[in-house]
Amino acid sequence: MRIKRLEIAGFKSFADRVVLDFQQGVTGVVGPNGCGKSNIVDAIRWCMGEQSAKNLRGKAMEDVIFAGSESRKPLGMAEVSLVFSTEDGRAPAKYLDFAEIQLTRRLYRDGESEYLLNKTPCRLLDITELFMDTGVGTRAYSIIEQGKIGQILHSRPEERRLLIEEAAGVTRYKARKQLALKKIESTRQNLLRLNDLIGEIR
Ligand code: ATP
Repeated sequence: MRIKRLEIAGFKSFADRVVLDFQQGVTGVVGPNGCGKSNIVDAIRWCMGEQSAKNLRGKAMEDVIFAGSESRKPLGMAEVSLVFSTEDGRAPAKYLDFAEIQLTRRLYRDGESEYLLNKTPCRLLDITELFMDTGVGTRAYSIIEQGKIGQILHSRPEERRLLIEEAAGVTRYKARKQLALKKIESTRQNLLRLNDLIGEIR
């Protein structure tokens, strides 16, 4: 899945709505120190469901909302939308009929937040599932920041294996297996209870 467009409003240094269109090929973002280049990557990561404020270079999640400047008051909400094209056929089957997938995340200062997939409210789980095995996603390999290459090279074989599994398209099946095992275990517990009850009734 290729990122086609990024829309940012009220997020970190982007008080006003900014739309970035990513063309085919390589896009470079240049600007003086502190102008907000890294905030663009933070916006992408946040929109895809990042849960750690630390990974977004903040102390609390609220820090992503525009905090005000000399000339502007702080804002009450941050909103980021990412638009993906599905042309490469790597999107999950249920999204292949759509020419693009729009993902939106909003956070209000009172802590309320929401995710939307193609403008319909959804759960974080839906987003995690959407990105599984695509290489996109907060823990995948689509965002390689400073120090990440070294981190991968020095990571334990088990950790490196997770990246290879994501690239090979195995992550989705491993997650489903975990879910199935959980269901089997809970059914086993129900059966035990049922047998106990039958025993008592007899
Ligand atoms: P460098 O080239 O030094 O790495 P950069 O272009 O990547 O810089 P960023 O780190 O993206 O810059 O942006 C830093 C700027 O974003 C700082 O001026 C900081 O005050 C501003 N900023 C971060 N969070 C907020 C916020 N919640 N509200 C307003 N401004 C913010």
